[in-house]
Amino acid sequence: MTMTRCKSRLTALGAMSAQLPHCAVCRVTIKPAENVVFRPDGRVQHTACPEVICPICSRVIMPDDPIRRDGEAPVHGNCWAQRVRAASASDGNARRAAVIREKLRAGALPPDAPTKTWGGYGSGQLCDGCGERIAIGAPEYEVDFSHSVTLRFHQGCFVFWQEERVTSRGGGGSAAAVEPHPGRESANAEVR
Ligand SMILES: [Zn+2]
Ligand SMILES: [Zn+2]
Ligand SMILES: [Zn+2]
Repeated sequence: MTMTRCKSRLTALGAMSAQLPHCAVCRVTIKPAENVVFRPDGRVQHTACPEVICPICSRVIMPDDPIRRDGEAPVHGNCWAQRVRAASASDGNARRAAVIREKLRAGALPPDAPTKTWGGYGSGQLCDGCGERIAIGAPEYEVDFSHSVTLRFHQGCFVFWQEERVTSRGGGGSAAAVEPHPGRESANAEVR
């Protein structure tokens, strides 16, 4: 009796081609033709596991390594977390860069080269670039102009401002307010 039940479960597994099981050891999706062992715990493992390479760091994923899945492919848990962090950081950077670009275009940030630049540490004041607070103790750039205006920037915002300043000037000669591609902005139309 037990034998028959076991057999029918096997066929059911084989028929479920849409949702193939993962190997309990290497965590890779088991393909229909591969040789597998059914374990006492009800899971399946390869008779011989392939070497699994993490697509993010290109290193081998050991059977004991914590993993996440990128679609079906296993990746290291650490690599996954790093990628998520990097993605959200670059999202924030893109948002800040867009704010600075818009301020430059609107004339809220000067397009001139500063007469003096200091590097220091934040004391909780707002960044003249992105408008967010510069955390106390975080790297801060203080920028002076000949007409005695002082601006404060996050380290990253200072770099964006410098880059944008140079590129916008390079495109439009001395008239920095001229923007030849007004259709380029799509997300931040509320800055007016
Ligand atoms: Zn395996
Ligand atoms: Zn990895
Ligand atoms: Zn900033």
